Amino acid sequence: MTFDFLAETLSGRPPEFPCGQTETLDWQWLGEGIVELSPRHTCTQAIVLSAGIHGNETAPIELLNQLVSELLQGSRPLKVRLLVIMGNPPSMRANKRYIQADMNRMFGGRHASFAPSDETQRAQQLEQVLAQFYRLASAAGATERLHYDLHTAIRGSLHTRFGLVPLQARPYSLAMLNWLDAAGLDALVYHRSPGGTFTHFSSKVFDADSCTLELGKALPFGHNDHQQFVLIRQALEALVSDQLPPPRTLSPMKHYQVVQDILRKQQDFQLHIPADALNFTAYPQGFVLAEQNGQDYRVEHAKEWVLFPNPNVAIGLRAGLMLIEK
Ligand SMILES: [Zn+2]
Repeated sequence: MTFDFLAETLSGRPPEFPCGQTETLDWQWLGEGIVELSPRHTCTQAIVLSAGIHGNETAPIELLNQLVSELLQGSRPLKVRLLVIMGNPPSMRANKRYIQADMNRMFGGRHASFAPSDETQRAQQLEQVLAQFYRLASAAGATERLHYDLHTAIRGSLHTRFGLVPLQARPYSLAMLNWLDAAGLDALVYHRSPGGTFTHFSSKVFDADSCTLELGKALPFGHNDHQQFVLIRQALEALVSDQLPPPRTLSPMKHYQVVQDILRKQQDFQLHIPADALNFTAYPQGFVLAEQNGQDYRVEHAKEWVLFPNPNVAIGLRAGLMLIEK
């Protein structure tokens, strides 16, 4: 009997056999798109890997599916407690980013301020699943918590692969920074304010070492160029087997700090960055980034780089981030 996690999730039906074991691990299907794998020996790490919070970001979903298959077939040893999540199955089936609203704005209880939908329910469910996973893992001695949430970007980017770490009071874990470096990221962005992302939630509530990974561009299921994802695949394989990934051979990763969150607060909000601007496009000091209600946002540093510009966001949401090099 084989369990094909992606096929089961896309089918929309519960699997015929929701749990099982191999010679070295036990696995359990915990709900649509949620599977837990536990090695039969004690281990110190509890790791959450998620993808498909945006349903059309297919390549990382396929990566995680491949990883689960290899672990279940026994071709790769599992040395950590592992929770694998396909975030938004209805939007995966529709090949859409989301159906009603963006789930990656809803975590940390923010789902309560959105109109109720499958996505608000799902965000709430995933919060509960993480709480239970980390609690049971801690009780079994796996107290080191990690969470990597895998995405692909919708726009072009001058850095193809990059990570975003949430704002947190405690220092960022050196082991995580080393892993991100080995995973071949071109850049790492440090947030300066809290947000409704899945990784901000896991960092804040569970003290997990958390990072959102943007891994390039995705195509529909079955059409991704997996060559693009080799380094992250190798790094994930090493992670679940508690090994060190192969060392980095690329030029060093760049580090950026968020210095401005551009918020749309008024109806007359105007963003002066084009909707198709590439991520990490630089703007010079004094450039007027946006205007609303007679006030403007300007580039304050000698140079600032833009991330995720979006002129069409709803009022109260973020229309872009501005960065400086750390
Ligand atoms: Zn995404």
